[in-house]
Order: sequence, then structure tokens, then C-alpha cells
Amino acid sequence: MKIHEYQAKQVLSRYGVPVPRGKVAESVEEAVESARELGGEICVVKAQIHAGGRGKGGGVKVCRGLDEVRESAEKILGMQLVTKQTGPKGQKVLRLLVEEGMEIVKELYCSVLVDRTRQSVVVLASTEGGMDIEEVAASTPEKILKTFADPSLGLLPYQATELAYGLGIDKLNPKLIRQTAKTFSSLYQTFVQEDCTLVEINPLVLTSDDRVVALDAKLSFDDNALFRHSESMKMRDPAEEDPLEAEAGEYGLNYIKLDGSIGCMVNGAGLAMGTMDIIKTFGGEPANFLDVGGTATEETVEKGFQLISQDPNVRCILINIFGGIVRCDMVATGIVEAFRKVNLQIPVVVRLEGTNAEEAQKIIGSSGFGEQLQMADGLGEAAKMAVASLG
Ligand code: GDP
Ligand code: MN
Repeated sequence: MKIHEYQAKQVLSRYGVPVPRGKVAESVEEAVESARELGGEICVVKAQIHAGGRGKGGGVKVCRGLDEVRESAEKILGMQLVTKQTGPKGQKVLRLLVEEGMEIVKELYCSVLVDRTRQSVVVLASTEGGMDIEEVAASTPEKILKTFADPSLGLLPYQATELAYGLGIDKLNPKLIRQTAKTFSSLYQTFVQEDCTLVEINPLVLTSDDRVVALDAKLSFDDNALFRHSESMKMRDPAEEDPLEAEAGEYGLNYIKLDGSIGCMVNGAGLAMGTMDIIKTFGGEPANFLDVGGTATEETVEKGFQLISQDPNVRCILINIFGGIVRCDMVATGIVEAFRKVNLQIPVVVRLEGTNAEEAQKIIGSSGFGEQLQMADGLGEAAKMAVASLG
């Protein structure tokens, strides 16, 4: 689960990470009032959406004086902000963060995440802050420092200090070595205590008044651990979530929207991935990932149909169910009933394999929906039929 920058900064400051003073605003008036309360000459107005790259997209404005704050707030609030991470449609800005301006001397990068290969938490840091870190990683990987924290020991103070020296803080501003190292430790603490999957500060800045400040903050929680963080759960923002994905979550279905035209309904995540691959092999594009879980009942198939058919790009649905735990004839009956109820206007291709597959074939074959509901023999054929149905 992702949260907004202003929420991430609230969490981080509880762990001792220095953040700029700031206020959240939901209207232009509030934004101006917040800037007035902050007092300083320079203010930064920042769009609050769950995506990075806002600066380049026009979602972060450094303002001098209240008139500029008003102007920027009017521009940003309500805009459809398009960044590298939002996709072409962008995300509507409903909230602003108004912060005191900082005089930046140096922008650094820092993040904490899990390194699966090393089976430990890794702290990444770089002198190349403020830019696309993916680009730094690709062109100058030596500029990204990595420190692995032993899971039983945590990030040791000497490791945090070493990182600070590694970034050359001693040369940039020797007064800030201790504070920088302490910030790394606090970021690590946040990551572990809050069960995060990512804590990313880009940029972490050194200021002209000798401070280390997290100017930006991105934080994601591990969904599997949310049950033990009731406070974190309150930070969920439904406006930022794909409505179909949120609806699927309520039914316990694992749905991820994609851009293609062939809707998929599959039992098992691995089989769902395989199904998407085969659709692509035969020249189609999957419209979604949907894992209906081990048991494909009439109810889950019906919910699946409803979800998939809400996506206007979908022109055909491919069902791929392996009847291991569930019997194929029962699944087939469920599909026919769900198909009848939902009254779909697009063709459905079914591939059922496993226990009682032949009975399933008969049930689908005699359902009376003809071309609209067809059974395929094998996954390759199913994908071919789905692609052919697009015309
Ligand atoms: P992002 O583009 O979504 O990552 O948003 P950021 O919060 O990282 O802001 C983008 C850029 O705006 C930063 O890299 C800074 O260069 C600049 N910026 C943000 N806040 C301030 C500030 O207080 N003072 C100055 N001078 N620049 C700022
Ligand atoms: Mn940033």
C-alpha cells in the first residue's frame, strides 16, 4: 500500500527523520493560509499523488510570496498530473502540501528496501539525488552505494557512518556527518518497525543552514503486514487506487488492470502469468491479470465477468482453469450460469483441463450460446481462438 508524501513525512518524523515544516491543503485558500502560517519568504507547493516525477510534470512549484503560492495552487489543484509513473492519463490532484522552502546545497538519494538475493534489507545511497535513480543505476552504477543490514543485527551505527563518508559528506559539510548517519539509521528503523517494502528519499538535502532534510518521501507498506498496523491502514487513499482493482480486492480476487483487449480469468497466479504470455505469443494483448484462486465457483466466475467487462477495452474473455482441486464439470456449470446472469455481449473462450474435463466440454458445448461461449482444446488453441475473435 502506498501513501502520500505528507503522510510519509509524518511517519518519518516520528522516527527522527528531519522533514520540512509543512501543511496539507485541499483548497487554494487553505494553501495560501498555510503559506502565511509557515511565514517564510519561499514556499514550495507540491501536488500530493501516489506517483513520483511530479517536479518534471509541473506538480512541484517553488514560490516567492503569497501571490505566487495562490497562482501555483490554482494551477496544480484539480489538474490531471501526468508523470513518468502515472501513465498517460495522469492522476487528479486533490491535495497539496505547502512547505517551507529550503536553500539546497546538495541533493542526495537514499532508499531502504529488501534485497531478495541477499535476503536482507539494503540501504542505497547516492550523491546523484533529485534525478531519476533508474538512470543513475543504468549509466553510472558505481555512484550508488549499498549497505546490507544483517537481519539479526539491524543497520549498525558504523555502517550508517560509513555510508555518510562514502557520499563524501565530510568534504561537503563535515558538520553534517553525524546527522546524515543518524538519518540513515532512522530511515532503516522506519522501514523495519513499520513493515515497509520501500522507504525512498529523493532528494535528501544538505541545506545552507547546516541541516540534513528529507525533502521528498515515498513510503510503501507491505500489505501482508498491514493487519498489525491499524494506524497505517487509516492512511489508505481510495482515490489513488484503480477502482476495478479495489473492487476485486473486496471480493478477495487478485486483479491487475493492463492495456490489452483480451480479458483473462485464471485460477492460480502462475497459470495466469502463463496465460498472459501465451496470449502475447499468438499476437494478442491481455487486458488484465486475474487470479480467481484455487476454487472457481459460479460466484467467483460471475464476479470475474463483472470486473473484466467493466473495462471498455475488453473485446473477448479467455477463461483458463485447471481442475485439480475443483472438478471441471462444476466449473463449467458455474461458467454457463454466470455467463447467463451477467449477459455478456462479448465472446468467451474457455479452456478447462483436469478432472472431468470431458463432461465440462459437453456442458459448455450444449449450453446453447454457440460462438459466444466456446470451449478450446488446449491453451494454445484457446489463445488462438481469443485472438481470432477480435477479427
Ligand atoms: P518529485 O519530482 O515527485 O520527486 O518531487 P520532489 O519532492 O522530489 O521535488 C522535485 C524537485 O523540486 C526536487 O528535486 C528539488 O530540486 C525541488 N524542490 C522541492 N522542494 C524544494 C525546496 O524547498 N527548495 C528548492 N530550492 N527546491 C525544492
Ligand atoms: Mn523526488
